[in-house]
Amino acid sequence: MEYRVGIGYDIHRLVEGRKLFLGGVEIPYVKGLLGHSDADVLLHALCDALLGALSLGDIGEHFPDTDQKYNGISSVELLKTVNNLVREKGFSINNIDAVVIAQEPHLEHFKKKIAARISSVLGIEENSLNIKAKTNEGLDDIGRKEGIAAYVVVSVNKGVLK
Ligand code: MG
Repeated sequence: MEYRVGIGYDIHRLVEGRKLFLGGVEIPYVKGLLGHSDADVLLHALCDALLGALSLGDIGEHFPDTDQKYNGISSVELLKTVNNLVREKGFSINNIDAVVIAQEPHLEHFKKKIAARISSVLGIEENSLNIKAKTNEGLDDIGRKEGIAAYVVVSVNKGVLK
């Protein structure tokens, strides 16, 4: 049995004229995150955590932002690709713990929907995944509503059918 963990972090800038996607869920807000893809900061951090757990580098190596193929792509598609890599390597996901830091919008009422979406994409039980929503208490760039950040930790294992 082989247990491994991975960590992921990401931050994107909030701008007008973009839709806001977090965890594969569209969140109603006056701004959205700026990026080459849909800039889903939570899914990017999750992809990085999974890639990290498997020692497979980072999301930038797998999906370069210089590649037009990924222009405007849903990050759900990136997560599906990474999840397939996890399965191909013979690993399954034990659990995922995530923190999203957004001064606005208030995410409390979206946590369950986000958890349901991610667990469905990954094919894991909803109780294997935890989403925490924080503000930045008005401090720094996130506190000034200039961006949203996410941290994700994952635990995976090989040799156990879940
Ligand atoms: Mg990103």
